[in-house]
Amino acid sequence: MAKYFASETAVTATRQAVQMHGGNGVTREFLVEKLARDALLVPIYEGTTQIQQLIIARALTGVAAFS
Ligand SMILES: Cc1cc2nc3c(=O)[nH]c(=O)nc-3n(C[C@H](O)[C@H](O)[C@H](O)COP(=O)(O)OP(=O)(O)OC[C@H]3O[C@@H](n4cnc5c(N)ncnc54)[C@H](O)[C@@H]3O)c2cc1C
Repeated sequence: MAKYFASETAVTATRQAVQMHGGNGVTREFLVEKLARDALLVPIYEGTTQIQQLIIARALTGVAAFS
């Protein structure tokens, strides 16, 4: 649950940071561009967000949506 929450928070926070920087946020002159790019990887490795959701749902409900 912590990994799922932190991953999605990182994506949301860096997405907002890019937006606040406007056009500068997507240039390599500003660190926020790299932070946002790096954040996109986090929901993928060590269990994707979708797989985390399936595992959490299985733990909470006992219903397995996949084997
Ligand atoms: C920076 C980085 C470092 C990595 N380091 C390692 C490492 O050290 N060791 C290692 O073994 N691997 C590593 N990986 C691989 C990583 O674990 C896989 O990329 C990850 O497990 C996803 O597998 P996949 O890329 O084959 O995507 P897929 O499994 O093809 O998934 C593609 C998309 O489909 C979704 N999806 C898949 N199955 C389901 C389902 N049943 N229900 C709903 N949605 C589903 C996924 O959530 C994802 O959004 C790394 C990846 C990255 C990006």
